[in-house]
Amino acid sequence: MRISGRGRRTTFSAAAVIALALALLFGAGQATALPADPEGSVRQYAVAGVDTAAERTRLARTGTAIDEVREDSVVITADRAQAGRLSGLGYRLTALTAPAERRGGLPGAAAPADYHTYGQVLTAVNAARAQYPSLVSSRVIGRSYQGRDIVAIKISDNVAADEAEPEVLFTHNQHAREHLTVEMALYLLDELTTQYGTDPEITQLLNTREVWIIPSVNPDGKVYDQESGSFRNWRKNRQPNSGTTAVGTDLNRNWAYRWGCCGGSSGSPSSDTYRGPSAESAPETRVVADFVRSRIVGGQQQITAHIDFHTYGELVLWPFGYTYADTATGLTQDDAATFRALGTALADTNGYTPQQSSDLYITDGSVGDWMWADQGIFSFTFEMYPTSAFGGGFYPPGSVIPRETARNREAVLTLLQYADCAYRIIGAEARYCA
Ligand SMILES: [Zn+2]
Repeated sequence: MRISGRGRRTTFSAAAVIALALALLFGAGQATALPADPEGSVRQYAVAGVDTAAERTRLARTGTAIDEVREDSVVITADRAQAGRLSGLGYRLTALTAPAERRGGLPGAAAPADYHTYGQVLTAVNAARAQYPSLVSSRVIGRSYQGRDIVAIKISDNVAADEAEPEVLFTHNQHAREHLTVEMALYLLDELTTQYGTDPEITQLLNTREVWIIPSVNPDGKVYDQESGSFRNWRKNRQPNSGTTAVGTDLNRNWAYRWGCCGGSSGSPSSDTYRGPSAESAPETRVVADFVRSRIVGGQQQITAHIDFHTYGELVLWPFGYTYADTATGLTQDDAATFRALGTALADTNGYTPQQSSDLYITDGSVGDWMWADQGIFSFTFEMYPTSAFGGGFYPPGSVIPRETARNREAVLTLLQYADCAYRIIGAEARYCA
């Protein structure tokens, strides 16, 4: 291990020392075959030969977060210790060029300033409230581990009243580095407000639906990833874990349905897919789950449909994630057919690929499984632009934001149209929505 390549650094963090020690312990022979990484220890790698859901699940069970699924490989984010460990297990890793190094005809790299900061998001929410007081309200539904406000925006006609209308929830930024999803929330806020009273469809929908937008479920992670001067490839929240220096829980493995059941998350705090010590152990997960539970009025969950926005891959995903089976306890043939038909209709509008979540690999404790199984909400996970690391991965340039957020306009409006009765899309409204 040549330290001289990192000579500009004058100090090593404890984490870096541990990472180096682990690399030496677990994978030095293989790790030295990987190119030196002068920009830091975390980067993306292509892992060759991983080409079925079962093989992807096997890789995920090592605690690796899979960023991207290709035809005969996957892309992961790993530090050198993890990369060395995977090499030691026989995986063939190739380091990808970091976004900052992509030049010459390929899309430019993003800078942190390309995306709204958490503070700028709050400013935009307040400005919308001030400009559209009868259409927009917001409330702090709870706080993150570090005490930041988690905000829910409500958009509807007569916004101050809780009218008897189907409610639709959009959540964003569970994963810290997925900044494009926060831009998606701001796009929706802008589009739904500026087009109300102008666009007939939006006007009709906001007159008959109540829309909730949570622009950042994970503000601590977003701030940590964005506001140090350069992106840090951070995914989890910023909650410490007792007995270790490893920080953070993967919020999208921390939900309280079949939490940790099925090898679709990690029990290791250092993993990017660490599920936490118990379901809803992360304040951010619990805050959003409590908010959803608070929308049960008169014994009836008011929220009927939901999209959780992520990047990247250009996918529309639906439950379950914990099992490969199309149907399971709490997910009937009709439910599965409705998810497939509606998910396909959404994907028809934006060109994403529609599939059941577990077609990628097994996940457990994900938001979609909980929303459906625990709350009866038709919940979709969108993986936004790009399809691949070559489009910028988690950090596409800011120039794509207008196009890639507007790209989901029709999908969002379609989901709002079906919010009164999703089963209508399979012609089963008489059976379920009478
Ligand atoms: Zn994500």
